[in-house]
Amino acid sequence: MEKTVEPNWVVDDDFARDADLIRVEGLSKSYGAVAAVRGIDFSIGQGEFLSIVGRSGSGKSTLLYLLAGLEAPDAGHIYCYGKDCSGRDIAQLTEEELAIWRRRQVGLVFQSFHLIPTLSALENVAFPLYPEHMSARERRASALACLEHVGLAHRASHRPTQLSGGEQQRVALARALIGQPSFILADEPTGNLDSQTSHEIINLFQKLHAESGVALVIITHDDRVAAAAERILHMADGRFIQ
Ligand code: ADP
Ligand code: MG
Repeated sequence: MEKTVEPNWVVDDDFARDADLIRVEGLSKSYGAVAAVRGIDFSIGQGEFLSIVGRSGSGKSTLLYLLAGLEAPDAGHIYCYGKDCSGRDIAQLTEEELAIWRRRQVGLVFQSFHLIPTLSALENVAFPLYPEHMSARERRASALACLEHVGLAHRASHRPTQLSGGEQQRVALARALIGQPSFILADEPTGNLDSQTSHEIINLFQKLHAESGVALVIITHDDRVAAAAERILHMADGRFIQ
């Protein structure tokens, strides 16, 4: 009998993985009796712009901390296909490996900017580069280039208190970009901004996404912010819903 040729599923699987930046399987995290993230499976594509929406308490920030390697999951896997990662499971890394992974792969943006008040805009942007072996001149040049990208080179020497909320978030975005990460995770990045400024920041996210090809995940409860993304996932009670 003629031998039938099996479809080559391995190749198909490899193809699917080529398109994924992050693949999450069975991810769970509880705080005591509170199940914040409950067995999530999903993927983030290379260079994708994704938003995650849901009410307060639905588990969005917990999911973001897990994706950023800032919290360890109770169960599940986070496979990363970012630069030099080839599918490493973030949930299995040691603290030291995780610190390096975070620095190289992830840019973080928060609602309240989290800038260091005693440092200038330029120094804040350069801050994540300190553990890398770079000269002060290289660090400055990289930080200035990132500030230029967000339209703030003319504010390089200003301290955070000398900047508006929108300008502070631009600095935070420049800082998130400085390590040329595979993806940026933003938790309610427009939560402290008025609607006009929110609009400007979202336009900036779109511009940077288009220019750099970095993948973007924005968590928000603002439908207009969510609508800027290529894909929207809705979260409720620690899971994605239809
Ligand atoms: P969201 O960002 O959607 O508002 P969170 O991920 O912050 O949701 O919270 C999800 C659930 O987990 C909530 O019930 C919250 O109270 C709880 N939670 C989050 N972080 C902690 C923590 N560090 N300790 C205890 N409970 C927490
Ligand atoms: Mg939150």
